[in-house]
Amino acid sequence: MRLSVIGCGYLGAVHAVSMAQLGHDVVGIDVDAARIEDLAAGRAPFFEPRLPELLAEALESGRLTFSTDLADAAGADVHFVCVGTPQRKGEYAADLRYVDAAVAGLAPHLKPGNIVVGKSTVPVGTAARLAEQLAETAPEAVLVWNPEFLREGHAVQDTLAPDRFVYGVPAGDTAAAAVAALDEVYATPLSTGTPRMVVDYATAELVKTAANSFLATKISFINAMAEVCEPSGADVTALADAIGMDERIGRSFLNAGVGFGGGCLPKDIRAFMARAGELGADQALTFLREVDAINMRRRSKVVEMTREICGGSLLGKRVTILGAAFKPESDDVRDSPALSAAAQMQLQGATVTVTDPQALHNAKGRFPELNYEPVTENALLGAHAVVLLTEWKEYRSLGPAATGPLVTDKNIIDGRNVLDPAAWRAAGWNYRSMGRP
Ligand code: NAD
Repeated sequence: MRLSVIGCGYLGAVHAVSMAQLGHDVVGIDVDAARIEDLAAGRAPFFEPRLPELLAEALESGRLTFSTDLADAAGADVHFVCVGTPQRKGEYAADLRYVDAAVAGLAPHLKPGNIVVGKSTVPVGTAARLAEQLAETAPEAVLVWNPEFLREGHAVQDTLAPDRFVYGVPAGDTAAAAVAALDEVYATPLSTGTPRMVVDYATAELVKTAANSFLATKISFINAMAEVCEPSGADVTALADAIGMDERIGRSFLNAGVGFGGGCLPKDIRAFMARAGELGADQALTFLREVDAINMRRRSKVVEMTREICGGSLLGKRVTILGAAFKPESDDVRDSPALSAAAQMQLQGATVTVTDPQALHNAKGRFPELNYEPVTENALLGAHAVVLLTEWKEYRSLGPAATGPLVTDKNIIDGRNVLDPAAWRAAGWNYRSMGRP
């Protein structure tokens, strides 16, 4: 099929490349000329496993092209809208100006029978509003909302073989043709049994925000348990293992630590609260305020722990932060707990050096006042405290014996509970983690 993908960020670039991999002819479009130049030259604009190889293959096959001009979408039958929906400045609500601009800009290029597929995460009610607009500007096109559930770090695999597809379709007889077109786009994953649900617009939009709210709640739940484990001497990891064996609970997303971040969960739960308020259902989501508050407390907690381990003040102390990305296998630093804690430590007078295998270029752009060092051993030199905040495998496998001679004081805070406390303590380290004795 002939597809266009509008917006080539973390979601759209992976979507465009993956659709070409499935055998479709794809044009990726973005307003960011530098990004399009990179993609067209085969340079992945961000770190994502498998993306460079699949991008090269797709360009080589001739099935994938890139453009900054929306008019180049005109040859496609199905158009995916993958632009950003960040948090509005100074508010909780989502900023929909990019989605609005993409749909409005696309409308003049749509032909009868074209399908516009929204993939961005939007507040419930957005698809209905956009469908009304399209009814005026491109009456023979059909809008479907098909939220995306990919995880950064696993984005290619999640796009090619997702857990499920959700299609939010309009009421009436245009829905059948839209479902058939999208089924054709996703024929390969559907043929291997990937479940697919066809629902109304509002349900599709809510599936995405509900899923992210549940995941955020699970993380904040275990972090709340960590807050109780800390004064009581209990071990939150053992607690998570034990409750996770109950299949009604499940072990995943129960890792206590410095909390969640990134370009999705924090802004999505806030936009959800804002939207519920507009709908008069704000009481339903007051618990998300607590989920957010617990999450933010973990960042302050790790700063407090670092101050304590340094003897009560960070003034003049050298702190090494292991990790800048909001999660491993990604270079995304949007709302990264690691950088947020690092910046707070710097404000309290520490000299903070951040290291990360992939995310330093992005981190420098956001927090130019911090020091950055790509080589872990160099970053550790002379540290009074080492703080692990992103669980990259190179940090999980750090050896206490080899690390000891590099630092000034053997103080380590394991903000992701991934190191072996016994091994570090046996090597003479003052080891602390979050919610473990
Ligand atoms: P991003 O900021 O990485 O990418 C957005 C891209 O859209 C940018 O390259 C930007 O230049 C481009 N853009 C903005 N306006 C445009 C326009 N009018 N025309 C063409 N391009 C335009 O954001 P992202 O992480 O890819 O997220 C995109 C959407 O997907 C968001 O709604 C997000 O919540 C959702 N989502 C993201 C993920 C994820 O893990 N990143 C997962 C699921 C859903």
